[in-house]
Amino acid sequence: MEKSEIKSGIDKSYLDPSVNPKDDFYEYAVGGWRKKNPIPKDESSWGTFRILGDKNRNELHLLLEGLVQRKDVGGGSDLAKLRDFYLEAMDEKKLDKNGTLSLSEKINLISSIKDKKGLIKIIADFQKNGLPSLWSVDADQDLKDSTKVVLYLGQSGLGLPDRDYYLNKDKKSEEIRLKYQKYIEHIFTLFDSKNKHSKEFAKTIFDLEKRLAEKSMTRTENRDPLKLYNKKSIKQLTSLAPEVMWQEYFDLVKTPSLQSVIVAQPKFFIRVSEMLDQVSLENWKLYFTWKLLNGSAGFLNKEFVNESFAFYGTTLSGIPEIKPRFKRVTSLLDGLLGEILGKLYVEKYFSKTAKIKVNELVDYLFKAYEKRIKSLDWMSPKTKKKALLKLHAIVRKLGYPDKWQNYKKLVTLRDCYLENYFRIAEFEFDKDIKKIGKPVDRAEWCMSASTVNAYYHPTLLDIAFPAGILQPPFFDEEVDPAINFGSIGSVIGHEITHGFDDEGGKFDAQGNLKNWWTPKDKKSFEKKTKVLEEQFNKCEALPGKFVNGKLTLGENVADLGGASIAYDAFQIYMKDHGRLPLIDGFTPEQRFFLSLAIFEAENEREENLRQSLITDPHSPGKFRINIPLSNMEEFYAAFSIKEGDKMYRSSKDRAKIW
Ligand SMILES: [Zn+2]
Repeated sequence: MEKSEIKSGIDKSYLDPSVNPKDDFYEYAVGGWRKKNPIPKDESSWGTFRILGDKNRNELHLLLEGLVQRKDVGGGSDLAKLRDFYLEAMDEKKLDKNGTLSLSEKINLISSIKDKKGLIKIIADFQKNGLPSLWSVDADQDLKDSTKVVLYLGQSGLGLPDRDYYLNKDKKSEEIRLKYQKYIEHIFTLFDSKNKHSKEFAKTIFDLEKRLAEKSMTRTENRDPLKLYNKKSIKQLTSLAPEVMWQEYFDLVKTPSLQSVIVAQPKFFIRVSEMLDQVSLENWKLYFTWKLLNGSAGFLNKEFVNESFAFYGTTLSGIPEIKPRFKRVTSLLDGLLGEILGKLYVEKYFSKTAKIKVNELVDYLFKAYEKRIKSLDWMSPKTKKKALLKLHAIVRKLGYPDKWQNYKKLVTLRDCYLENYFRIAEFEFDKDIKKIGKPVDRAEWCMSASTVNAYYHPTLLDIAFPAGILQPPFFDEEVDPAINFGSIGSVIGHEITHGFDDEGGKFDAQGNLKNWWTPKDKKSFEKKTKVLEEQFNKCEALPGKFVNGKLTLGENVADLGGASIAYDAFQIYMKDHGRLPLIDGFTPEQRFFLSLAIFEAENEREENLRQSLITDPHSPGKFRINIPLSNMEEFYAAFSIKEGDKMYRSSKDRAKIW
């Protein structure tokens, strides 16, 4: 192939030539970008993901504004439902004028609680309307029988992002706890300026939440599907948490008749039951008033919006300024009515040929994966056969759903922003609950088409790449294939590897939580992942704060696997099409690794990083690049890494899994 035929995909402004790639590849590959791109005032972090996300959101906003102008969109149509929600949400004047009027109905409902039955009614009502409640409920595939949909009950009820915030003993956590109580206090005073008890209210609410936190499982524990799978007959559920009126509850959320449910965190429900017995009705009313105020603050007037942002945006994530309303509303709509908006989005912004080209890339990734599994030196032929069976069972979803969601039964009106939100939440909730006992819908997507992300679903066994991510700088039909294999190729490899990480690997080729490994292979796998876990445990993200190697293990296994498989896929591609030339002074392999790093080009605020270390199963960007690459001899060869270089690890210390 002639050089002139290939368009370069390397943007040299990303590089920091003052850094030696052998010492810190991440800084070398994206340090230039990091220096030139400070975090905007309304963002918690800024990077290639966020920039593309911002671009997509602006395009969605243009579509929404265009919709407002259209005369042909009649009442009752999906587009009219989208438009009415948008217009109501954007009407800041009306929201400021109405204050907390839209809360009246729910406030009355809370005031009318006279007994436990009333409490159960509130719990169910809040769940249906998308408000924070005491526990979570949803309908999903049975982890051990993926053909069936069952009811899951899970821990919830906290106002801080994780149970750790209530229980950690460090100074920073204590500081956040105090600020959280101040925030509760402020919101209660905003709601009723004559209220003299806001401070006591805050203390009572915080103590209730802390009691829930004490019996909540950690994020790391929640990554183990075996721990979460506690099937209980209704009788067993009743003896586990006798104070909950379960039959009344199931009637309220309108489940079909149930033989059993799955309780993700049994100890949490024991605690809930105890609290229903011990906590006074008055305090519960306070608790649910707080859930209502906090959950709807973003839908009310300026004062509520700003107060909520000051805590969740500034205190917890370090963001100085709130985003303009149109950005907040567009993001919300992308989540709520993503399949109406997504349809408009792909019609206008998604290239049909991108789908075909990505499909070819995915073929290469699967080919490389197959080869890789077959040649693993640590896995027995018996387990390999099962692994290949699973690999071949993975279904791909590219761009957008083949079948868009049906919104016929949804109503949105030009009356109230918050009411419209409740209507959509209830529509989705009912749809979800109705799935119980019906065949699994395998065509459904878990992300909107404009999302800059991808996912692997362990029980559906599918990998999905929304249109939103299939564009530059992650994918570009026009440029050097090395770039596409390095960026989107690694993401595809990453998602497939989730089927074989420490969590996804527990599911078999039918998507059931069932062991398919021989005991010896399982042991070897665990030994191999342990090496990676310990490498990440040593990564210091903030002074004295280290990455949680166990919490991030699945993502780290996927990153290492993704990079390795994508590299192989790229080599197979070059075998088929001929070796690529030197471009911009870089070999094809060097370009592959440079483009892989571009994915994680980012700057992050300290507060946000602090939060991510507790809540995010992904490691910080720098480690997501440097650690996997320090385990890859292919990377060593591409950049002549030798003993003595900082990126070097002796072969006995390297993690090699897939
Ligand atoms: Zn992942």
